[in-house]
Amino acid sequence: MAQNSSRQVGRHFLHIPGPTPVPDRILRAMDTPMIDHRGPEFAKLAKRCLDGIKTIFKTTNPVIIYTATGTGAWEGALTNTLSSGDKVLMVETGQFGALWKKMADKLGLQTELLATDWRTGVDPKVIEKRLSEDKKHEIKAVCVLHNETSTGALSPIAEIRKAIDAAGHPALFMVDTISSLASTDYRHDEWGVDVTVGGAQKGLMLPPGMSFNAISNKALEANKTSKLPKSFFDWQDMLNLNKSGFFPYTPATLMLFGLDVGITMLHEEGLDNVFARHDRLAEATRIAAKHWGLEILCKDSKYYSPTVTAILLPEGHNADQFRAMALETFNISYGASFGPFAGKYFRIGHLGDVNDATMMGCLATTEVALQLFGVPIKKGGAQAAMDYLLSQHGAAKKQAAE
Ligand SMILES: *Cc1c(COP(=O)(O)O)cnc(C)c1O
Repeated sequence: MAQNSSRQVGRHFLHIPGPTPVPDRILRAMDTPMIDHRGPEFAKLAKRCLDGIKTIFKTTNPVIIYTATGTGAWEGALTNTLSSGDKVLMVETGQFGALWKKMADKLGLQTELLATDWRTGVDPKVIEKRLSEDKKHEIKAVCVLHNETSTGALSPIAEIRKAIDAAGHPALFMVDTISSLASTDYRHDEWGVDVTVGGAQKGLMLPPGMSFNAISNKALEANKTSKLPKSFFDWQDMLNLNKSGFFPYTPATLMLFGLDVGITMLHEEGLDNVFARHDRLAEATRIAAKHWGLEILCKDSKYYSPTVTAILLPEGHNADQFRAMALETFNISYGASFGPFAGKYFRIGHLGDVNDATMMGCLATTEVALQLFGVPIKKGGAQAAMDYLLSQHGAAKKQAAE
């Protein structure tokens, strides 16, 4: 093994759950001279992006494209629809749920946080019960994360919609899909979501710095009476200028070139194939972890995330030190741990431009790294994942031949 070497050889194995590896094709599309952001070529590009992104959110309504990270789109969702003192129901599925709540507090909203043990997704029954108790309809919005990136738990958005309807409650429904969009099925219109928040640097395979608000007609209505201050994130300025293919300010032109190609790539593969690939790679990762004898943080399989898996290390093994060692030795990055489980787990991101070979490399490397770090595991987890991938491809091949 190279000691005192300043060069890392080969591609970095970026297995954090975002930013995800940016495909060369997107990088090349972004490596282009500047164009006039008020000129005709830009207008064509913007229209392609503004139309294309609707197919990813599965909506026929406008989608706002912000020149900001996902956190900016969180702010856009809240400030465009709510007024100071409005009550908002949120769920602390993990770190990101907690952060969105913190933002709502800072903005002057009155938040009510439903706690979890950070090992599960949102239970629709809990939402239904709480909304049913709110006879005076004081709760103005329900905000949940589709995928809690910090713990690896996916929540059933269509069922939560049904729960809100079953309670007969008029609250707006806001969903953060930053680490699920374009990786697993999501239907803004069909599932009756009022504001969907998205980000560029996860399933969409772009660099960080762009985010989205998909909006329902009900959210547009709420926008008319909402009183929270909004300027940079104001929907109205955006919607007005977007009609002609322009933005109220200089947008991130190169990101739009990248987005245009990213959307094209997703459709070339086929969204359903994209989702199946994520499911397959997630299952392969869980199979490896279980074989090693390690515990998955998400304790209920019905909430397993298709994009990120958090794996607990046994008592006495610090996960942050494990990540540092794996990075130094094998040039692989994993996601960090948070909150009550800080130092206790690491996360393997399996989203975006990742394929079976990438994941086999990641899982084999992880198996070696765990042993090198002294974690007592049962060898063969990577092989078990490979056997699973073999069976999946074998079955698909057989089906194609029939
Ligand atoms: C990454 C992420 C965010 C934060 O997005 P930034 O681009 O870092 O501002 C918010 N929510 C979820 C679910 C995320 O995965």
